[in-house]
Amino acid sequence: MRFPYEKPRPGQIELSRKIISHINRDSIIVLNAPTGFGKTAVALYSIGKLIDEGIVDRGIYVVRTRNELDPVIRDLRSMDIRFTVLYSGRRMCPIAIDRNISPESFWFTCNILRIKGVCSYYKRLNQMNLNALLEALHSISDHISFSRVLSDKLGVCPYFASIMLINTVDIAVMTYPYVFKERIRRIVEDIDPTTTILVVDEAHNLVNIGGVMGDSISRDIVDKAVREINRFFPGIYRDVVEVLNRLLQVKPGDRGYKFIGKESIGFTNDIARDINVIASEIAFRYVEMYRGVEENAMGIEFSTAHLAKFLSMLIQDGFELFVSTDYGGRVEFHALPIDLSLIGKIIGEFYSAILMSGTTPSKTFLVDVAKVNRNVVELDAVDVGAIDYLRENSYVAIFTGATTMYRYRDEDTYRVYALLIENIYREIIRGVFLVVYPSYEVMYSVTKMFSDMDGIYIESGEPLSHYSNLVERLGRMMINTVAGGRLTEGIEIVENGESLIKVVAIIGIPYPQIDDYIDIIRKSFGDGDTRFSEYLKEVASIRILQAVGRAIRSDKDYALIILSDRRYLDRDILSRLRLRVRLVTQSIERIREIVRAFNNQYLSQAS
Ligand code: SF4
Repeated sequence: MRFPYEKPRPGQIELSRKIISHINRDSIIVLNAPTGFGKTAVALYSIGKLIDEGIVDRGIYVVRTRNELDPVIRDLRSMDIRFTVLYSGRRMCPIAIDRNISPESFWFTCNILRIKGVCSYYKRLNQMNLNALLEALHSISDHISFSRVLSDKLGVCPYFASIMLINTVDIAVMTYPYVFKERIRRIVEDIDPTTTILVVDEAHNLVNIGGVMGDSISRDIVDKAVREINRFFPGIYRDVVEVLNRLLQVKPGDRGYKFIGKESIGFTNDIARDINVIASEIAFRYVEMYRGVEENAMGIEFSTAHLAKFLSMLIQDGFELFVSTDYGGRVEFHALPIDLSLIGKIIGEFYSAILMSGTTPSKTFLVDVAKVNRNVVELDAVDVGAIDYLRENSYVAIFTGATTMYRYRDEDTYRVYALLIENIYREIIRGVFLVVYPSYEVMYSVTKMFSDMDGIYIESGEPLSHYSNLVERLGRMMINTVAGGRLTEGIEIVENGESLIKVVAIIGIPYPQIDDYIDIIRKSFGDGDTRFSEYLKEVASIRILQAVGRAIRSDKDYALIILSDRRYLDRDILSRLRLRVRLVTQSIERIREIVRAFNNQYLSQAS
C-alpha cells in the first residue's frame, strides 16, 4: 500500500500505526487532528493496510458536502487504489445536471424514466462490465469529472454505475446522507458493514444529530402539495388532504423547535404511503406528457415529491414532528430524530469507525448521548508532532464588558456589542472581519444599531463564493453571521494560499438554543444535569472553534480572535478551546489598541 504523498509529513505514519493497532470490532477511533495535518491521507492509508492484511474488505469515507469529496479523491488517486464516488443523484445525473429541479422531484422523475425504460444512460449499464467502468475512472480528478467520464465517455448513468461499483472497490467516498439518513441509506444496503470501516470526516457534525439525520419542509411547500393533490385527484384523497390541512393549522412557538407530534396530526404509514403513490402518479403523468422526449420531464417541479420524501423520514421509528419559524416569518416543519442512539446504532453496524475532525466529539457525547457501544480510543495528531496552528498562530483576547446571557441581555447589551464591533472594524485595514453571533435574534438586535459604514454584510443565504468576490472588490469587509451555520462551517476566503479572514469576534457563547428538541436531548441524560451542561459546552466550543478555524487554515495564517462575553472566564470553556488567551479586558479602547497592533504586525507589510 502506497502512502498518498511521496514524503509523509511528520507523525503521519506513526499515527497510522496507532490506528491500525487500536482498531478492531470492539473499538472505534476518534482522531483529533488540526487543519493541514493530512488526516485524510492517514485514514485512507490505514484502511488500505487493513484491506491488504485481509482484516476488512473496504472502507466507506463520508464527507459533509460534495466539495469535500475532492481532496479525498486526490489522495486516493495517488494511492493507486480502487474507489468510487457517490453524491447527490440530481447532480450526478447527466439529464438533470443543467436543469432547475429539486432533488425530491428529480428522484420521482428518474424513477419513472427507469421504470418506463426511457433513460438511455440507465439502459447502457446492462452492457457495461465493472472493469470497463473502473478503467474509465483512471483519469478523474474530482467529483465532477467522475460523473462526466461515466456519462460523456461511456454514456452510462454515473449514479447507478457508482452503486454497481461499491462492492468491487476498496474505498467508496460519499456524502453523509448515504450513511446517516435512513431513507437514503437503503441505496447502499448491499454493502456488508461488518467487513467495512466507516470514516466520518468533520465528525464534530455528529453532535448536531438533528442536522445530520433530520429533514425539513416549509409550510409553503405543504400548502402547494395540498393544491396539487386537489388538482390532480379532485375529491379522491380526502383523508390525506384532511391530515395535511391539520398540519397547516399548526402555529410555531416563539423560539426554536416546538414539538408537535406526528400522531397528533394523524401521520401514519398509510398516509405516507398514499402520498408516495400520489407523487409517483404525478411524476408519471408529467413524463407521459413528454412522450417521445421523456427526458424533458426532468425539470418539472412538484411539491408532493418534497412532501413524500419528508414523510418517508418522519414515519420512521425514533423520529418526531417539530415546527419552527425563522426571522422572516417562514414556517418550517421538521422530522427530527428523538432517539439519539440512532447515530450509535449506525456506527455500531460497521466493523469499526474512524471519526475525524480538528474538534472531535467527546467520549461523553459518543457514549452517553449517541450510545456508541464500543471502546472509544482517542488519538491526537498533536501527540505525534502535528502543530496546532489554531493555537500557535492566534492572538486571543477576552472582552468582558458584556454578556449575551438571556436574563442579562437588553438594549444596552446590544449597544455595547455594536460599539465594540464598530471600533474593531474601524481599525481593520484589509481582509475580512468575521463577527459570529449565538443566534439570529442577537445578530439582528446588534447589527440594527450599527452606524452607516462601508462593507458591512449580514448573512442572508447567499452562496459562499459571493463573499470572496466582494472582498476582492472592496479590500476589506465585515461579515455578520450565526454560529453553527453554513458560513461558519464552510466559508474559505483565500488568496495565494492565505486566509483573508483576519479578525474573528465571537459575540456571546453560542450554546444551542433551549427549545423542545434540546429538551429531549436533556432528558436523554436522565438525571445527569451536569452531563447535559457539559454537552451544551461541547456544542458551543465546537461552534467557536469552527468559526475561528475559518481564519487559520494553514501555517501561513495569523488571526486575532476576540471572545466577547464575560463567561469566557469560565475555565471549563477555555480548556475545551485549547486557545492561548493573551489579554482579558472590559475596555473597548484596549481592544481597539490590540487590533491596531495586530494591523502593524501582520497586515500593514502585506497590504
Ligand atoms: S437513471 Fe437516468 S435519470 Fe436517473 S440518475 Fe441515471 S441518468 Fe439520471
